[in-house]
Amino acid sequence: MAKYKLEYIWLDGYTPVPNLRGKTQIKEYASFPKLEELPNWGFDGSSTQQAEGKSSDCVLKPVAVYPDTTRKNGVLVMCEVMMPDGVTPHPTNHRATILDDAGTWFGFEQEYFLYQDGRPLGFPEEGFPAPQGPYYTGVGFKNVGDVARQIVEEHLDLCLDAGINHEGINAEVAKGQWEFQIFGKGSKKAADDVWAARYILNRLCEKYCVDVEYHCKPIKGDWNGSGMHANFSTEYMRSVGGKEYFEGLMGAFQKHMDEHIAVYGPDNHLRLTGLHETQSIDKFTYGLADRGASIRIPHSFINSGYKGYLEDRRPNSQGDPYQIASRILKTISTVPTP
Ligand code: ADP
Ligand code: MN
Ligand code: MN
Ligand code: MN
Repeated sequence: MAKYKLEYIWLDGYTPVPNLRGKTQIKEYASFPKLEELPNWGFDGSSTQQAEGKSSDCVLKPVAVYPDTTRKNGVLVMCEVMMPDGVTPHPTNHRATILDDAGTWFGFEQEYFLYQDGRPLGFPEEGFPAPQGPYYTGVGFKNVGDVARQIVEEHLDLCLDAGINHEGINAEVAKGQWEFQIFGKGSKKAADDVWAARYILNRLCEKYCVDVEYHCKPIKGDWNGSGMHANFSTEYMRSVGGKEYFEGLMGAFQKHMDEHIAVYGPDNHLRLTGLHETQSIDKFTYGLADRGASIRIPHSFINSGYKGYLEDRRPNSQGDPYQIASRILKTISTVPTP
């Protein structure tokens, strides 16, 4: 037997953007614990905007488990927040609203800034660095600085060790801006992994005295904002698809445009302006390889006869992947399959 440090992590009740919370309990297991072996736990919801003080108990229900190599016998336990009865999802529990579907795949491209002393890493104390151009996928101290790549590489290793399905990383268009991509099969897996990866990144940055800025437009002017493009496909889209179904799907996305924008992250009007590879927030468009559209159709989709995945470019970096996945699936479910 060994004592494992179980870090239960969950999303609090702050709006419009929930914060990650976590606390540790120690339990003994013969080997690395499986999800079924992890008990429900509780926390004081009155401190996280999830309950009143006089009836403050909320329940944590483990839903995903990851090895945490930053600690001896460390375990990250992603949890859903439940009501005191342990079975009713708490109103802040958006994961519970995602239609369960093993045939749905999501790929999220999380962009973010690394910040220190109130500005992106690599920005001078006064004014701005050289304009955008060389930073995207750049190399060299003047383009990416020193500590940023160290953080990004360390984060990648921790996530891979945790079994998080990272597909890649890259330096982004603005100085101090980075991206990682996470892909998952099943309607909840990629969203779980994004939250776990955010947790690991936020915690890793503590020792560098760096913060992660997820806001979608932290710097005004000619500096890119941050998105979280949501790539999605269902079993039907991949195996049957077709032009008629695709057009029906886009009709539904058009019809539910406002409901999508409502959960695609706060302040998105600052980012979805029609500039910097975005469509403006009040328009819905789609187009082949069009990075100025709301939804980009990859070449592979057309080449294979309207089959495959689509990229919704509107979700922003601060969006909750649970709410985004939930909304996309809800809209898809309104489209009849012939
Ligand atoms: P870009 O920056 O050109 O938009 P990326 O390579 O950063 O492209 O991201 C593409 C994303 O699409 C990846 O996260 C990948 O996992 C995802 N993806 C690829 N195929 C599928 C699929 N069939 N269903 C859902 N997502 C997919
Ligand atoms: Mn990308
Ligand atoms: Mn990007
Ligand atoms: Mn993209």
